[in-house]
Amino acid sequence: LQQGRKLGVALVGLGKYSTGQLAPALQQTQLCRLAGVVTGTPAKAAKWKQQYNLPEQNIYDYKTFDRIADNPNIDIVYVVLPVGMHEEFTVRAAQAGKHVICEKPMAISSAECRRMIEACRKAGKMLSIGYRLHFEPHHREMMRLGQQQVYGPVQRLLADNGFRFDNDTPWRVDKELAGGGPLMDLGIYCLQGVVYTKGELPVSVTAKYTPKPNNNLFKEVEAGINWQLQFTDGSAADCRTSYAENMSSRLRAEAAKGWMELQPAFGYGGISGRTSQGPLNIQNVPQQARQMDDFANCVLNNQPTRVPGEMGLRDMQLIEAIYRAADTGQKVRI
Ligand code: NDP
Repeated sequence: LQQGRKLGVALVGLGKYSTGQLAPALQQTQLCRLAGVVTGTPAKAAKWKQQYNLPEQNIYDYKTFDRIADNPNIDIVYVVLPVGMHEEFTVRAAQAGKHVICEKPMAISSAECRRMIEACRKAGKMLSIGYRLHFEPHHREMMRLGQQQVYGPVQRLLADNGFRFDNDTPWRVDKELAGGGPLMDLGIYCLQGVVYTKGELPVSVTAKYTPKPNNNLFKEVEAGINWQLQFTDGSAADCRTSYAENMSSRLRAEAAKGWMELQPAFGYGGISGRTSQGPLNIQNVPQQARQMDDFANCVLNNQPTRVPGEMGLRDMQLIEAIYRAADTGQKVRI
């Protein structure tokens, strides 16, 4: 790598998240920049080319994508496609010799996650998952308070994340493209939050689907699900997610000597928190810029990312256990 050059990032899939969050964030990053795009929509290619001053040779579609192997201006491929396409494009990116950031959830099954990890390992490329909240200071503080047992061991956790889905992105209720419903898309933040606040993995799970509303949206995926994770020390995490109900976005942990919570907890900004001792006076930060700069720093210094493919796989295994618990009505050991 040339000294002082910002790493080039190519966004794959120019939908809402790429357009509204990642491309603007790449204007604020210090160590990486928007260098190219991969899109199936020619009109978007033209628009992005002009808006972000992208050279023609850095613009690909899904068929020409593999030629990115010959493009030295692109170091990192960022997969921002429907979940059912994550595996294919992560594997192709690794085979093209690029480092990869893949959006959450990592894939639609743990088997896919394993193949993605293996492809990146074989290619000698780094793989990270778009878990932006690991770079967010309120969430870092929840990790510190919980993991260091500042109020004693955490005994109870609560997390909610849900909104009324209006079918703006129909792939989210298509089983093949999404893998599942709100658990995959929104509940994963609850899962992540309770696990990193507790600082350990649960040993079992129970779960129950919520009733489907009277519309035709939820033919293939759940409309909502409530689940409880149980930890070895007898503590538990109660989590809820839904596409049928606007929920408070909340992460809370209770311990013998106090409690801490974030609400709203999971947005791109506006996160606010408090503990039993009073408000957390923490500034919001540009999460995605921090996340991408951290990955660029890891690539440049050959250091491990704190949100690796292995974490995406771990979460997919937990999600599979939650679905199994809801499908069977039984407690599932993890
Ligand atoms: P969108 O539907 O808005 O965008 C997806 C894009 O993928 C489309 O615009 C299209 O781009 C491309 N695409 C290719 N094939 C298909 C297909 N068959 N159906 C639909 N789109 C297709 O989704 P989002 O941007 O909301 O989500 C994309 C990814 O980002 C998901 O993995 C999601 O979970 C993740 N995400 C993460 C967030 C976070 O906070 N970390 C927040 C929001 C989303 P094109 O026209 O360029 O080909």
